[in-house]
Amino acid sequence: HTYTPDPTRYDSMEYRRCGVSSLKLPRVALGLWHNFGDDTPLANMRATICTAFDNGITYFDLANNYGPEPGAAERNFGRIFHSELSAHRDEVVVATKAGFEMWDGPYGRGGSRKYLLNSLDDSLARLGLEYVDIFYHHCMDPDTPLEESMGALASAVQSGKALYVGLSNYDGETMERAMGILADLRVPFIVNQNRYNIFDRTIERNGLKEMGARLGRGLVTFSPLDQGLLTDRYLNGVPSDSRIARDGRFLHKDALTDARLAQIRDLNEIAGARGQSLAEMALAWLLHDAAVTTVLVGASRPSQLLDDIAALDNTDFTDDELARIDAISAR
Ligand code: NDP
Repeated sequence: HTYTPDPTRYDSMEYRRCGVSSLKLPRVALGLWHNFGDDTPLANMRATICTAFDNGITYFDLANNYGPEPGAAERNFGRIFHSELSAHRDEVVVATKAGFEMWDGPYGRGGSRKYLLNSLDDSLARLGLEYVDIFYHHCMDPDTPLEESMGALASAVQSGKALYVGLSNYDGETMERAMGILADLRVPFIVNQNRYNIFDRTIERNGLKEMGARLGRGLVTFSPLDQGLLTDRYLNGVPSDSRIARDGRFLHKDALTDARLAQIRDLNEIAGARGQSLAEMALAWLLHDAAVTTVLVGASRPSQLLDDIAALDNTDFTDDELARIDAISAR
């Protein structure tokens, strides 16, 4: 079979400039942290990627360690990209990252020049690409001088292996210092990627959200559905095909306390009154925020992605709704 992308794919998706840069990102993007490892059938991965592209999702988010096994998501994305999308390389933004543990020994994690540049080469080989559009430092590394990590990002751009760079999981103060170094090196640092959702307000407190907006950097929010908790998935128990049941590495069933479940149910009622699924409302809540460029969702099947995109149909909130959501989140 031959895949032909939907010719109407750019008609309904919304795009927003990533901070002050001219790179436009789709307001809903697809991340491949879960559901793209070697434990997922290739046909399902292909269907999800093609559904994304057919609906105007141009940004695909990867990292060196996404799997299982680490590296598998890049390999699987590369395989699908080359069979289905290779004619459309210029229409797609591919991002990858390095920072968390990837290989044994002293050079397989952190922020050293050695690790970051070796890892980028490995990622490109797995992806089968000559360059990525965005290369992120995945997490702050207090053991490496910021100048060294940022210098490695600069080299990635100078060598043509990355068009732009980003920072992930940085706080506001460290990001501002990194930005100063990157500006001196004339590196196009355009985006922060941080965890942000109705339940996790860390970046409201650590300065990242405010500083990023003030400095004109884009904000890509990951786990916007809190890995599936902010959906209808767990309203009536733990389905056998859910992330908690299939893959407890990062989302353990202990996360589903009675108190958490009560919050989820109350949020689901607000969503229902708005005529939205809980997933749609949780994403709309982020998209409504002027500081947010893009919500980066995961999806275990195409239908979830379509529901997630439908969040764009209503991103308006009344003050009363916002106050009630904040109150539930703060409980
Ligand atoms: P989400 O919070 O979007 O959770 C995704 C999960 O939610 C899906 O696997 C699915 O669960 C469920 N889901 C999604 N849509 C729906 C829907 N409409 N209805 C019901 N359930 C739904 O994001 P992730 O935690 O997957 O993170 C997204 C991306 O963010 C990652 O792929 C990665 O690219 C990035 N990320 C970056 C990190 C970083 O450090 N920079 C860290 C973590 C993520 P189920 O599988 O149970 O069906």
